[in-house]
Order: sequence, then structure tokens, then C-alpha cells
Amino acid sequence: MTRLPNGKAAYAARMQKARQAKPKTKNAVSTGFDEKTKIWFNGKMVRWQEATVHVMSHVIHYGSSVFEGFRCYNSANGPVIFRLKDHIDRLFDSAKIYRIDMPFTKAEIMQACIDVVKLNRLEACYLRPVAFRGYHSLGVDPRLCPTVVAIAALMWGKYLGPEALKAGVDVRVASWNRMRPNTFPSMAKAASNYMPSQLVKLEAKIDHYVEGIMLDSNGYVSEGSGENIFLLYRGKLYTPPLTASILPGITRDCTITMARELGCEVIEANVPREMLYISDEVFFTGSAAEITPIRSIDRITIGNGACGPLTGRLQDRFFAIVEGRAEDVYGWLTPVH
Ligand code: PMP
Repeated sequence: MTRLPNGKAAYAARMQKARQAKPKTKNAVSTGFDEKTKIWFNGKMVRWQEATVHVMSHVIHYGSSVFEGFRCYNSANGPVIFRLKDHIDRLFDSAKIYRIDMPFTKAEIMQACIDVVKLNRLEACYLRPVAFRGYHSLGVDPRLCPTVVAIAALMWGKYLGPEALKAGVDVRVASWNRMRPNTFPSMAKAASNYMPSQLVKLEAKIDHYVEGIMLDSNGYVSEGSGENIFLLYRGKLYTPPLTASILPGITRDCTITMARELGCEVIEANVPREMLYISDEVFFTGSAAEITPIRSIDRITIGNGACGPLTGRLQDRFFAIVEGRAEDVYGWLTPVH
């Protein structure tokens, strides 16, 4: 090896070794990304490898990003994007809350989502639009940092595990609370809200649970690290209200609509923690989690420990609509082609 001044040879050798070393974490897995797909990046379709940002971008240091996540289903009528307009409306709401100027219109972003699926010839996939403060200067004041918008599409299986939708998941009440009102805006789907969510998820996983349920700052049930929650208690369906620091979930909204359609009374009200344990059915909702039954909480069995009848009926109705087996009576689907 050529001799480099000031210990550079040793440094180069160390770096070479580090590059060849196997990842140290026990759980190292492949990224699962299809790096051949194209990403919509600030108005252009670019190769996966080109969709990068500078390490001195504002977002890296201060978490200044808002994002969305939703599925495209491979329905009987071809690929359909689920509640596209509602997700893009929420993206713009999140940006408005954080005073992030959006350099594109809603119509442009919606079209870009369709284009990403089309161009990559995808059928079932998950879309991830993100808008963040880019590269300009390091101060907390973000006003001179340009907004960057990107939309990626990826394959994403069942979020809480392949068996979760049928068998249900084992979860715990998290030791971390959801943020208090007037600290972080919970109605915004902002990256910064997912720092506590990571603590909740990690704590759950380390203790062999699938997910954690956060309580709000008053001790009432709020939501999972990436899901809203519903409880069937004495024949009525309860879900925490927006004032319990939840994200206004779009699958939550679908679930309320479908449950009422099935003749079930739905009540948005504060939920005491102990109601979780004595409910007949408890389930999560989310774009990634869809409608996932919870079979135990803190090792207490919920109902008879299986997917409950109402949860099953809601799942059936949901999948019948997104898979094109039932009419899209609510206008939830945007065809890609
Ligand atoms: N709460 C949190 C914290 C989430 O991350 C999500 C997933 N977006 C949800 C609830 C469910 O929202 P949606 O049904 O819109 O995906």
C-alpha cells in the first residue's frame, strides 16, 4: 500500500476493513427496497440511487419533515390507490401546521403518486410522499431552506406480521406517553412525532410484543406507534377522540363509516386503560396495519384471544372494497390506469 502522510494509510486500511465487515447488529436484514424503482424527486423521475439529500439539510438536524403513507391495491379492476385525495390533503395540512411552503399543488402531487405507480409498473405497493426542509443553512430558523418533495413506492407486506390479520397480535401498554397537547402537534404527520414512536416500538419488540399502545398525558388510551385503536365494549365501538393526541387516521375514518354501516354505534370518547383489558374486541387501524386484531394486551387475553366477529366483518368489508369485489360506494379508490 502507498504510504500516506499523517496516519492516513492506517485510516484508509481501517475504512477498507469496515467496508468489508459484516454488519454487527444481530437483526441485520436486507433493506427490502427494490432499488430498480424510480422515485419522483422534486418534479422529476430519478433513479433510486439519485434520490439523495445533503447531510447538512435542515431535515437531518431538526427532523423538519412531514410525510404520508398509503397503499395501492391490486384490485379486480387493476391497481387502485386508497384514499389518495385524503392522504394528500393531510400532507398539506401537516405542512401548513409546520409552516412548510409546498412548492407543488395538491393536483400535481396526486398525479405524481399515480405516475410513480405507473412508471414503475407496480400493482400492489405502498406509497411514501415526504416533504422536508432542504439545504441552505444550519440555524433552527428554516425560512431560507427550500422544501424538497419526494415520492417513493415500495413493496410492503403485512405491517404487523404475515399472520397478524387473522391471528391477531400481542401488544403492551407503552411506558412512554403520547405527547401532550401544545408540545408537538399530533394532527400533523411529522417525522419528529416518530421519535417517541420508535421508543414505543423498540420497547415492545425487545420485550417480545408486536406493538405498544401509548396513553395520552392524562392517562387515557391514545394510539399505537403507527396505528389508531378501537375497542368493542358492551356492544358499542369506542375509539379515542382527536383530543387524546392521536393522528386523525384515514383508516380510522373508514372504520367509523363501515361500523356505522353495519349498524354498530361508534363513540369517540376518552378510553380508560383498564377498558382495554375488559373489552370483547380490540383492534388497530392504519394504512400499513389495515385492520389488525389485538389478541392480548399486557399478556391479558382479549375476548377469546382470536379475531372477534365485528373485527372480522370490518376486515371483510374493507378488503372487499379495496380488492374490487364490492362497489366503491364511498369513492375511496383512485384507479391508476
Ligand atoms: N397513528 C399513527 C401514529 C400513525 O403513524 C398512523 C399511520 N399513518 C395512524 C395512526 C393511522 O393512520 P392512517 O390510517 O391514516 O394510516
